[in-house]
Amino acid sequence: MTTRPETAGVEPALRLLSLGAGVQSTTVLLLACEGAIPRFDVALFADTGWEPRAVYANLDRLRAHAERAGIPVRRVSAGNIRTDALDPKHRFVSMPLHTLNPEGSRGLARRQCTSEYKITPLKKAARELLGYAHPKRVPPGVYAEQAIGISTDEIGRARDSGVRFLRNVFPLLELGFDRERCIEFLQDRGFGETVKSACVGCPFHGNAGWRWIRDHDPEGWEQAVEFDRAIRHGYPHASKHGQPLRGQYFLHRSCKPLDEADLDTPARHLRLVPTPATLDEDGDPDGCSPWSCRSGAPVGQPDAA
Ligand code: SF4
Repeated sequence: MTTRPETAGVEPALRLLSLGAGVQSTTVLLLACEGAIPRFDVALFADTGWEPRAVYANLDRLRAHAERAGIPVRRVSAGNIRTDALDPKHRFVSMPLHTLNPEGSRGLARRQCTSEYKITPLKKAARELLGYAHPKRVPPGVYAEQAIGISTDEIGRARDSGVRFLRNVFPLLELGFDRERCIEFLQDRGFGETVKSACVGCPFHGNAGWRWIRDHDPEGWEQAVEFDRAIRHGYPHASKHGQPLRGQYFLHRSCKPLDEADLDTPARHLRLVPTPATLDEDGDPDGCSPWSCRSGAPVGQPDAA
């Protein structure tokens, strides 16, 4: 990433990790615990409140591990995305829902959830940790270095934070770690069961992701099926305020009710060589990364507040 003139040669006031708790950011945290890369002052996990149970269990284990190495893991949150979306009194939560329009065409609703539930609380926490909570202005030259878990196979997703007080760095790119290397590294350290981090009801799940939730997190699956029914004609807040959707909303890309959608995978032998179709079937392998989202279209660059 480019070094901005005002921070050239200036040491960061803080070193942060944006911890998604998936494969890549968990690897970065463990590397710091081992002293292979500089220690973080804080690792920040942006919690949407609707992660699979396995992610929270992994996070608890990681927290204990990191704190033994002197790295606190702090959870930041803007609320619970599921309960907010279903609350008629809560402001509209825009998830990238699949839409079926009255004339039969399909689309994808605008995504604001990553920004609202992940990027905004991470920026707010960084400002507070720097000592310049909003609306205080962060002086030029004062910044936190923020490590992001991007591996060499996804280098195109590495990008700047878009704000002056946060400078993104990519330790896995510097070390030449691809995703496979990260998985081996985690397995060697007893973290081989690390699962991807994304909301239980994320419409970006491919069939593999939905099957995983159905088979490993029955409570989450039940919530997702109920949620899918509840948003069929729009979010309760939008309907209550006279903005009903013209068509229908769905969590599954087939625009079928989640519990009726075909989640079966293509035959194994067809999947040995990844093709756009099989990749599409599997969906996003690593979940929703706040700063470099792997799902769907990249999140728009945040403002410079
Ligand atoms: S995981 Fe999906 S639903 Fe959750 S914040 Fe990211 S894009 Fe939105």
